[in-house]
Amino acid sequence: MKDTLHPESLMMTYGYKPELSEGAVKSPIFQTSTFVFQTAEEGKAFFEIAYGLREKAKGEELGLIYSRINNPNLEILENRLCLWDNAEDSAVFESGMSAISTVLLEFLKPGDLLLYSCPTYGGTDHFIHHFLKEIGVDSIGFTHEQDKKEIIQLIRESGKEEKLAFIYLETPANPTNDLIDISVCREVADYFSNPDKKVRIGVDNTYMGPLWAHPLQHGADLVIYSATKYIGGHSDLIAGAVLGNAELIQRVKVLRTFLGNMASPHTCWLLLRSLETLKVRMEQQRRNAEQLAHFLNNHPKIEKVYYLGLIEEGTKAFEIYKKQYTSPGAMLSFEIKGGEKEAFYFLNQLKLIKLAVSLGSTESLIQHPATMTHAGVNPESKLKMGITDNLIRLSVGVEHYEDLIGDIEQALS
Ligand SMILES: *Cc1c(COP(=O)(O)O)cnc(C)c1O
Repeated sequence: MKDTLHPESLMMTYGYKPELSEGAVKSPIFQTSTFVFQTAEEGKAFFEIAYGLREKAKGEELGLIYSRINNPNLEILENRLCLWDNAEDSAVFESGMSAISTVLLEFLKPGDLLLYSCPTYGGTDHFIHHFLKEIGVDSIGFTHEQDKKEIIQLIRESGKEEKLAFIYLETPANPTNDLIDISVCREVADYFSNPDKKVRIGVDNTYMGPLWAHPLQHGADLVIYSATKYIGGHSDLIAGAVLGNAELIQRVKVLRTFLGNMASPHTCWLLLRSLETLKVRMEQQRRNAEQLAHFLNNHPKIEKVYYLGLIEEGTKAFEIYKKQYTSPGAMLSFEIKGGEKEAFYFLNQLKLIKLAVSLGSTESLIQHPATMTHAGVNPESKLKMGITDNLIRLSVGVEHYEDLIGDIEQALS
């Protein structure tokens, strides 16, 4: 069934057996810390798999042990999430940051080198430059402006090319929508790989996934989400996810077991609820965003709009856009004429659109990156990333687009 139906048709039922839950059409919340083994032998076999002591036998499933290791809500959610990205397995976390930090801790050891795309999410940036640096993991950042030759040169010049272990990408970049070519990064990873050391690629796909971009198809080993954003979609929970092949996700899950940062049964249950409407929400958000981008692009008080749907044909960015994405998405940013003062004045006049960080939710959210999400970035890097004092980021929700345009229009005037 999984292979013939679309993911949106499977979000209400896949991986859940009503007969195991008194016929309930929806999965109950399995609010339990532990599970009863039928025999001691069964308990032993479950632990061998959970702790990676032996490979799974053909057709063998990990039995239920203890809710830090697994829980029906967690497992149903992980199975359903895989459908969108056509991934073999996934691991769900209590936040996007715990998904990201667990991946980086699993695939990078002291002495290793990390290559990452700039700009990256503030929390990720902090983890790379503080925690990882302190435990001896070096990092090199690159931007969308650098090509394959230049990236290889950067790694060579570091004198640590043998130590390159992981490439971390975020595309489109937040908040400027700059695009990174994942397949080019795959070539870089393969160039520095050898039989003893495979360089892995992880892509933070929060901005466009899991509907509009599927990085595994372009050469990524792992896809990472802040499920707080589109997947959760209602601004009422914090969660994260990692997807990839069974072998890599097994490594991530073993570390998760010992860090204890899996999502709770209740959070998983909320996410299962959210997945049922994922496609209709995201499609409505995209339709609204296209209307807003068009409106802003033609407004005399707006200097520039950054939206994937407005990328000029014939450019390198357009080529990447066509190859990697199936939609322009629902995230846009724009520069208002003036500086911080004008930007703040505009933000303070909005009535319907809420002034808050986060994104991907049913309600439209707006914020000022330079003083909010990217306040911690040093001024020089901010400028290099295009995070100016007059830049505003808008996450478009599911409201009627005329009401959103009306709100922006009255605030601008
Ligand atoms: C929000 C976000 C994160 C962090 O996720 P949390 O769920 O807040 O921990 C990581 N990457 C991107 C692109 C994000 O937008």
